[in-house]
Amino acid sequence: MAGEWTIRELARKAGVSRKSVWAWIDAQGWARPVSGPWILDGERARLVLERFEQTAPLRTPREPVPCSIEGCERTRAGLQDMCKMHYQRRLRTGRTERSSGGDWQTAKTHCPAGHEYRPENIYRFPSDVGTRRRCRTCRIAQSSVSKKPS
Ligand SMILES: [Zn+2]
Ligand SMILES: [Zn+2]
Repeated sequence: MAGEWTIRELARKAGVSRKSVWAWIDAQGWARPVSGPWILDGERARLVLERFEQTAPLRTPREPVPCSIEGCERTRAGLQDMCKMHYQRRLRTGRTERSSGGDWQTAKTHCPAGHEYRPENIYRFPSDVGTRRRCRTCRIAQSSVSKKPS
């Protein structure tokens, strides 16, 4: 890359604001011109463009981004990391997979209050049937609330 480049030209070419280019150049400690605008030689201009090329996809997500749920072909909705359908399902059921009767209780990894069902956090009553799990953290929280003097 030859020639002389101004910040304005570089910013336009990189698709970023002049301020961003300026800030980065300043951070490199490159000698500032005593007067007049920054003029970068080809080598430095190349470095600037390389630097901003790396971040370009992160800054301008104009392309539709696919839903993060495996196998889903829809695109993400707004700032969510999943499509509208999956997002709404998660709001409704707390998970993104289709619920199918009883399995979904077993497959759940967290209690309704959001504590993780780890082995040490699960307890059962002798009267519990099947795979019903209870959250120890919730149980402790409930009993400490009820013990509080009112
Ligand atoms: Zn989806
Ligand atoms: Zn819990």
